[in-house]
Amino acid sequence: MCASVTLIAVGGSRGLFSSSREKRPGLPPPAIRSVDEMNMLIEKPPVRTKRCSACNALNAPSSLFCERCTAPLAVVALGNLTNDEQRTYMAALLDVLGESLKATSNSAPASHDKALWHAYLSAFWLRPETAMILYAEALAIRDITNSSSQHWLDLGCGDGIHAALYSGWRFDPTFDAFQSLDPLAADIYHHWDPNDFTATVTTRGQQIAHGIDIKDTAVARANALGPFSNTHQADATHLPLPDRSVRTIFSNMLRDLGDPLPAALEECRRILTDDGTLLLSAMTPGYAENLYFAPGARRAQADGDDDRARQLLRLDRGRSVFCQRQLSVDEWQTLLSEHGLKVTTVRPIVGPAIIRFWDIGLRPFTIALLHQRQIWKTAGALPTIKPAIVDFLAKTLDPCCGN
Ligand SMILES: [Zn+2]
Repeated sequence: MCASVTLIAVGGSRGLFSSSREKRPGLPPPAIRSVDEMNMLIEKPPVRTKRCSACNALNAPSSLFCERCTAPLAVVALGNLTNDEQRTYMAALLDVLGESLKATSNSAPASHDKALWHAYLSAFWLRPETAMILYAEALAIRDITNSSSQHWLDLGCGDGIHAALYSGWRFDPTFDAFQSLDPLAADIYHHWDPNDFTATVTTRGQQIAHGIDIKDTAVARANALGPFSNTHQADATHLPLPDRSVRTIFSNMLRDLGDPLPAALEECRRILTDDGTLLLSAMTPGYAENLYFAPGARRAQADGDDDRARQLLRLDRGRSVFCQRQLSVDEWQTLLSEHGLKVTTVRPIVGPAIIRFWDIGLRPFTIALLHQRQIWKTAGALPTIKPAIVDFLAKTLDPCCGN
């Protein structure tokens, strides 16, 4: 018996895959090393002096994101963009929108689910680029699993909205992911005020056994939302679950881990049943190649326009390197097999057009939109205005373009 991994690949190359647990071979005999080799093995660990405000971990001074919890550490805050950067963002958005509208296919894949797409847009209406990626993951999860949520773990569950939606939960039209945020923070989502959060459930979906996240604010949000039977604030390298207790793990967080990933994969293998499956949503090398800003920065630099290159790289805000494991299927296969897991299924979910749109989206206007949302909410206008905007987005954006 062996547990499998399905890899959900994001980025324009092929990729949702599944892999299974393998019997571990015995430990190889220790290699005999030369003195030079030994010295290379005793390299000093990197100096870590930058403390993460979300999880308190120390990071290297050059880190853009926290290695432990992936909170942003040194990317420009959306509220600190200059007027010139806002204009560049707007030009980029119009550029990509025009391109994708022309390229939109008239034949949506058979798996397109308009009601599910609408549910994701409604929850993430101010960030439709996020809705696109999560919707694609939800379709993949639905197509490849029949597993009961009784033994299901969402690892890195965040606020739990994604898990709720892919498990059939639906909410009142005024519900969204933008309640109780801190627009002035580098990580606007790392904030929690229960008095500023309401989630009216219209359809109860399946109860999911476990949701785990490293951030206390995310766990508080997930608890308030309600899709999990159990939530845990925990590090992926120390999962608070018994051996062989989970049938399916879904994670779109493991891909973001640097050094902690091997230990996290060991933990996944430990808690999976022998016939269990890890659904791993991960970026392929096509991801960074198909972004808008980072490749543009490389082109500007090649043209000798260093100022433009610097500006585009600042607007990349670390997205090109955020997902630290942008590996091909073969490379994932090798890495996972080192941890007793075997890729059995690969499932591509989004292509270049969505990746380019996702790199821009409505991100530059997030702060202004959050402010406007609050005005509409205070005035009692959200129930009227929001559904109209969601309907417009549903008709205008094609979540299947570029597949
Ligand atoms: Zn952190």
